[in-house]
Amino acid sequence: MGKDQIYNLKLATTLANLAEIYKQKSKGTRSAIDLNVAARTVRDYPGNIFDAYNRGFIINLPGIDEMSYGLIKEFFETGRIKLYDEIRAQYPDELIKFIRISGLGKKRIFKLYELLDSKSMSDLREKVHENGIYKLILENTALDDEPVNEIQIKRLIDSVDYYYSIEGLTPRGFLDFFIEDILNEFGGIKEVKRAVYTGSIRRKKSFIRDIDILLLPEFNKDKYDRGKSELLLKKLCNLSFVNELTSINPGPDNISGRFRTTFGLDMEIIITCSRSWSFDLFHTTGSKEHIKRVEEIAKQKGFLNGNSLLSDSFLKKPGSCKTDTTVLEDDSDEVVYKMLDLQYIPPELRENNNEIELALNRNLPELVKLEDIKGDLHVHSSWSDGLIELDGMIAKAEALGYEYLAISDHSISNIYGMGLNEEKIIEKFKYVEYLKSKIKVLSILMGGEVDIKSMGKLDYDEYILKKMDIVLSSMHSNYTNSLEENTSRVIGAIENSNVNIIAHPTGVVFGARAPYLLDMNRIIEKAATYGKALEINSYFVRLDLDENYSRKVKASGGKIAINTDSHRLNNLDMIKLGVDVARRAGLEKEDVVNTMSLEDLMSWKQQPASNKSN
Ligand SMILES: [Zn+2]
Ligand SMILES: [Zn+2]
Repeated sequence: MGKDQIYNLKLATTLANLAEIYKQKSKGTRSAIDLNVAARTVRDYPGNIFDAYNRGFIINLPGIDEMSYGLIKEFFETGRIKLYDEIRAQYPDELIKFIRISGLGKKRIFKLYELLDSKSMSDLREKVHENGIYKLILENTALDDEPVNEIQIKRLIDSVDYYYSIEGLTPRGFLDFFIEDILNEFGGIKEVKRAVYTGSIRRKKSFIRDIDILLLPEFNKDKYDRGKSELLLKKLCNLSFVNELTSINPGPDNISGRFRTTFGLDMEIIITCSRSWSFDLFHTTGSKEHIKRVEEIAKQKGFLNGNSLLSDSFLKKPGSCKTDTTVLEDDSDEVVYKMLDLQYIPPELRENNNEIELALNRNLPELVKLEDIKGDLHVHSSWSDGLIELDGMIAKAEALGYEYLAISDHSISNIYGMGLNEEKIIEKFKYVEYLKSKIKVLSILMGGEVDIKSMGKLDYDEYILKKMDIVLSSMHSNYTNSLEENTSRVIGAIENSNVNIIAHPTGVVFGARAPYLLDMNRIIEKAATYGKALEINSYFVRLDLDENYSRKVKASGGKIAINTDSHRLNNLDMIKLGVDVARRAGLEKEDVVNTMSLEDLMSWKQQPASNKSN
């Protein structure tokens, strides 16, 4: 594996930021579209983009046009992009990133930055949270030809808060491109008997802070050998993705080392022994709050030794467990829950959200599984901005065991998504009809991702919507309106009898777009009332809805659709990331509409709202 995988994200972000700047130039639309397409290709590239560049095939990747190739070449040869640097010379890098996050436009953001006399993003954060910020901005921009209004100030503050809420986080799906390779490298070290992911990766969090790995060497049996374990930690510096070992922390039961990696995030490797394996797996998995609650139960049952749940206290309690170390060397940490007479709690649920009470009553939900998903309802084709070859798509859908797949392209108003106008969509209907007759291995559905315009009006006439097999609806533009306006736009779509699913409801894109100003509680409630599904968009930088909103959807009796929003073939695999969000939300098969057979899905779609929620 080559060095510096983080280039994929870094370069993609730079290209997308440039696209944002082009959007605001006159005649910049085409360049913005091309740059966005190139950014996506780089972001989704399932390997190291620097390697692809070095080996000379980057120009052959779909979506890399001449202009983007020139910029990429400049980036790798000089470490910078001049065009980008010209803007960066005047304003800090983080502020340029922030333009896109806020959606407020370059001119307005620079104006506000200067007006508030900010020195950096953290300085801006302090200033937007000072009293009188609204008054200050309103008064000072009142005479401008484009005065800043109250909603824009609210958007500014929310966006700053969002910017800081994701500080230090990385989408877990980004790591998925390399996750197998990492473990394979451990497999190549002769002292390593077993290495598994633990911590937030094992809990399947959408966005993670670091990579935790629990490692069992051949030589650590009943307890860990400090000398040998330290040597092994030092030896791990030879792994291709390790930059340096920054610290070693020996504890009573295990020893851990912290490494800086080429992924741009730290890796903690915990070396344990056979005897403590299950307990260390349990402890390192977390979350802290979950462990605290489990330890309280252990205390009540007399299992707690001092302050932590140690393997010895389990082992010493008469009759509690076989002292046979092979029991504790089990792949999982099930033994911990078993001893406490708790139902086994899957790692995804370990967040102290009532899961302990459910486990005590043996009443945990039966979580939805990847195998339950029968189809993807949100896939873009080359009719709009997708770059997926039909044959590949069908083979992939078959491999995923799908029964159906909806080709849901953008609608007419979505300029940057190359949406289809009326003429084009009529052509596409004919094409999909042809596909339906030709393809027998799965059902192809005519879908659409229809923009919600102002007043909740949809982007196509009713006769077109009625002809579609499945209608997704979403907001892509003018979302910097008020909370009331945005909310009623979405509710307008929910109330439209032709709409089935609201796609990526909050609009958040990791590190690139703060969530829209929306009253999500009202939207969730309305969707449940009208029997419409809200989407968990599985694309790795979206994961929208998140687990908290998804849990609310279930609580209000609503339904979820888990889709990928694929624009590239390998995006279809990201469905598992959406399933992880659903599992963290405690969703079951019945809560997710695309676990239904096609027949059931079509009758769900037809049912009047009041019958749907049951
Ligand atoms: Zn969309
Ligand atoms: Zn889409």
